[in-house]
Amino acid sequence: MISMLTLEPNKYQPQVKMGRVLVVEDEELIRETIALTLSDEGFDVLTAADGSSVLELTNADRCSGTGGKSEIAQLDAIVLDLMLPYVNGLDLCRLLRYEGYMVPILILSAKSSETDRVVGLEVGADDYLTKPFGMRELVARVRSLLRRSTRYPLPQTPSVLKFKEVTLYPTECRVMVRGEEINLSPKEFRILELFMSHPRRVWSRDQLIERVWGYDFMGDSKTVDVHIRWLREKLEVDPSRPEYLLTVRGFGYRMG
Ligand code: CA
Repeated sequence: MISMLTLEPNKYQPQVKMGRVLVVEDEELIRETIALTLSDEGFDVLTAADGSSVLELTNADRCSGTGGKSEIAQLDAIVLDLMLPYVNGLDLCRLLRYEGYMVPILILSAKSSETDRVVGLEVGADDYLTKPFGMRELVARVRSLLRRSTRYPLPQTPSVLKFKEVTLYPTECRVMVRGEEINLSPKEFRILELFMSHPRRVWSRDQLIERVWGYDFMGDSKTVDVHIRWLREKLEVDPSRPEYLLTVRGFGYRMG
């Protein structure tokens, strides 16, 4: 049986560890089913019935004084329900990103409108699955999240990338614009890092999706445009007349 206690490791001891996944879901039947399925697939599964226990972990990290992202840093992915008691999934996701946790997040939602999907991605989620979903689909998405995070390792990551007045520190995941640090979602950061690693190279929307989201991305190329728009708002002096992220009509985007 999967443990009913929040954030208790399950009793299964799979032979091959696929990764450590936290499932945050208040509906017991769904939580248990997901936990059991992922566990059967060889994942190490932790469960939480609400967002507050996850918040407690981030508080513990903040107060530890070591700067160590203890519990959450050991996770390879979080499966996060949107409608949760106390703290909803979107706020939790936003907070985790704000606190600097880069763990891949798959959002589960009963809502299926495009707006909800975009909001989910905006707060830093990596993928989105609408209820009801099949367990095979869920397992495939979780696997894909884990694959993607190591799919395109940059060889010999430079310690700093500079372009005009934008400076990006790849290993620190920090970006300075005109001397001030800006906050980027993980996807925005990955896009910018890609652009800055290849100045003036033109990227098509499909190439960006492949490199940033992965081959099995389920959305469409509008997602790229939305992310570019957000990046422009953070980078450009005048987002309507960009100097950094330029549109190359008929092809895609390039930097500078
Ligand atoms: Ca729920």
